[in-house]
Amino acid sequence: MSLKVVIVGGVAGGASAAARLRRLDEGADIIMFEKGEHISFANCGLPYYIGGVIKEKEKLLVQTPENMRKRFNIDVRINSEVTRIIPDKKLVEVFDRASGRTYTETYDKLILSPGAEPVKPKLPGIDSERIFTLRNIPDTYRIKDYVDEMKPRRAVIVGAGFIGLELAENLYRRGVKVTVVELADHVIGPLDYDMAAIVHQHMKSKGVELYLKDAAKSFKDEGCCINVELAGGRTLKADMVIMGIGVRPESRLAAEAGLKLGTTGGILVDEYMRTSDPDIYAVGDAVEVRDFVSGNPVLMPLAGLANKQGRIAANNICGLEEKFTGAQGTSIVKVFDITVAMTGNNEKSLRKNGVDYEKSFTHSPSHAGYYPGAIPMSIKLLFSKKEGKILGAQVIGYEGVDKRLDVIATAIRAGMTVYDLEKLELAYAPPYSSAKDPVNIAAYTASNILRKLCNIFHWHDVASIDRSKSMLIDVRTPAEFDLGTIEGAVNIPLDELRDRLNEIPKDKDIYIFCQVGLRGYIASRILMQKGYRTVKNLSGGYKTYQLATQKQSNEDIYRYDEIREDDSVKPSACDGDGCKADVVIQLDACGLQCPGPIMQTYNAIKSMNYGELLEVKASDPAFREDIKAWCERTGNRLISVKFENNAFTALIRKEKQEAAKGMAERKNDKTIIVFSNDLDKAIASFIIANGAAAMGRKVTMFFTFWGLNILRKPDKVKVNKDLLGKMFGMMMPRGSKKLSLSKMNMGGIGAKMIRFIMNKKNIASIEDLILQAKANGIRLVACNMSMDVMGIRKEELVDGVEIGGVATFLGCAEESDMNLFI
Ligand code: FAD
Repeated sequence: MSLKVVIVGGVAGGASAAARLRRLDEGADIIMFEKGEHISFANCGLPYYIGGVIKEKEKLLVQTPENMRKRFNIDVRINSEVTRIIPDKKLVEVFDRASGRTYTETYDKLILSPGAEPVKPKLPGIDSERIFTLRNIPDTYRIKDYVDEMKPRRAVIVGAGFIGLELAENLYRRGVKVTVVELADHVIGPLDYDMAAIVHQHMKSKGVELYLKDAAKSFKDEGCCINVELAGGRTLKADMVIMGIGVRPESRLAAEAGLKLGTTGGILVDEYMRTSDPDIYAVGDAVEVRDFVSGNPVLMPLAGLANKQGRIAANNICGLEEKFTGAQGTSIVKVFDITVAMTGNNEKSLRKNGVDYEKSFTHSPSHAGYYPGAIPMSIKLLFSKKEGKILGAQVIGYEGVDKRLDVIATAIRAGMTVYDLEKLELAYAPPYSSAKDPVNIAAYTASNILRKLCNIFHWHDVASIDRSKSMLIDVRTPAEFDLGTIEGAVNIPLDELRDRLNEIPKDKDIYIFCQVGLRGYIASRILMQKGYRTVKNLSGGYKTYQLATQKQSNEDIYRYDEIREDDSVKPSACDGDGCKADVVIQLDACGLQCPGPIMQTYNAIKSMNYGELLEVKASDPAFREDIKAWCERTGNRLISVKFENNAFTALIRKEKQEAAKGMAERKNDKTIIVFSNDLDKAIASFIIANGAAAMGRKVTMFFTFWGLNILRKPDKVKVNKDLLGKMFGMMMPRGSKKLSLSKMNMGGIGAKMIRFIMNKKNIASIEDLILQAKANGIRLVACNMSMDVMGIRKEELVDGVEIGGVATFLGCAEESDMNLFI
């Protein structure tokens, strides 16, 4: 007697099981019931057909019932819904939609692969014809026809999961203004907030309206449009709404047949994909699986899993024993220009399960920086603190993301540690990778952390650092520092660090950061080996910090009938106010990380004539924002920024300074003559100077006569002096620590009291103010003539002081709108 297998559901899991059964048992009697009209269609391709990326309908049909019959000799019955399972009689009841007839069919083995249905909560107005869900081919045609015929202006997508975001991109491709509303504080649930921040910023840059921590509460069809009322109080007017808030396993049929369900609501199966009835198997979105990392029961509606499980069920039915060993949730999604991929557990699940884990962030180029088109990708690696076992990873970038994520997914499956990951030998040639692949880099970083070669802190730790007991050092270049830093950080570029150790107190905790973490790591190694007791490097650098601490949502950028200004750069034509340029200089800064592209832009602009156009190509994702900020600061005009072929192209016109109301014309520099060496007056001078610098003003402090003492080094410096010079030197205070108050000095007690009170009130000391001034680029000029008179030599002054005369001072004063004499 031949084996009779009945399958419920004819798409991913069902069709895969059917084909495998036939390959293993040519004599089996296989019937596949599908309640819809299509079998084995490409669910995952549906959003792309709506967006016009996939042009022909036929491409969505991987298999037709006829072909399945011909190739695999399977009895495919479409429009046939299995309405009941009667396990003790080994019968299914089938409703034939075409004829309206109900009949029964016997089975020896039954495989359930009914999938999952989109969640459509019972909200007021949810039945409007303007509200859509997407699961199958008929849903797809409905949405596509609506877009083709009704030409909607605005779509509200409720839920920012995979399907919601894929539809956001594809509707946007069709010219629809897209608003995404998400209940959580970030998009794509399996991602962590800090990685989702990259997606938020990318969506913002595309002009997608994004509401986070908000939800649709009700809908009102107004005839001409639909009003979506949000829990937060807003009402969004739109032409169509897509509900993409998740799916629910289709487990009703199984439950009604008395099969056990798991705690998640999915059908309970063992590792052989057998339900609580040994002759009934279940696979795909409808079943509850074990999380490979945590061992917890979970639902993981993914196509790869459904296909694998279908095959495993068929193997077991045919006597080829095989176990399903759990699901990692390895998944990938394209969100506009970026690729977002993840595997294993995220922080939320690790925390929930009480796992002692650590994380690292790395940002590496997709391939060798010197080969055209390299573009950074961000990797977050999660690993156990004890043995370094890899627990999860999230990778986001433009190119090569899938390969890196798959390597890590494989490593997790193999139970590997970050030390194993370091050793992986991965394919390399410049167009594809670097000699140290981004995966190796992520592993090196993680193992350095575990080996305590580098202590780290994270972006979310910054707010709780006790600034009175620590120093925050930005080791990037002054140009990068100028484009934005963490508040209160002092700029000591990595290459100057060894020469400026005297500025770094040994009795404080040192927090270091750079752009992505690498220079910070080098700096922290220097300081650790120089005997600093607590040195920590910011994981992922300023890039991760900045992404995660920015505003994430993007509200109120559209009105239904007029589109309001959004915060992305809009391409606009040269607007005719004197832009007669016919010279375009092209600059390729691809492969360079911040501040490379900005520095190159600066150098190129310097050599150009006013009105000429510069076209800069850069692959650094931060370039879009950086170039905006740079143009605003320098008064040059940013005409457009586009993203094409893995690179940003910015078109900049060099502006005349007067036309741009630039710095020079405004003459808003500040100069301060510091004549006194009283402590209180010195403090006041530096506070004013630092304040002005923070407002973007160029500040020059000109130290003359007694004021020079503020700049003296605290220790005696051996220099040749005449007798008078030596006497002066001895009588005058040597450096800031020796200064007295102008009033109530009381033999130095007053000065000590002032220092004590300032420290208590968290006001920077005069020494810190001097460091800050240098970091802020304030020019400290010592008066040449006064030095001569008072017998002070350059060697006796702290580093970074220029020597200048009256002409230097007057030159600066002429550019200033404020000159103080203190
Ligand atoms: P399905 O493929 O949904 O098949 C179930 C079938 O059973 C349905 O056709 C249904 O009509 C039929 N059925 C249900 N009940 C009965 C019954 N009583 N009688 C007869 N027939 C019945 N996954 C990824 O991994 N990557 C992606 O990029 C991706 N993109 C997606 C995009 C979209 C728009 C959608 C909807 C899903 C996407 N998925 C993706 C998820 C993936 O499609 C599912 O995980 C996979 O199809 C599940 O397979 P399944 O066999 O369990 O269910």
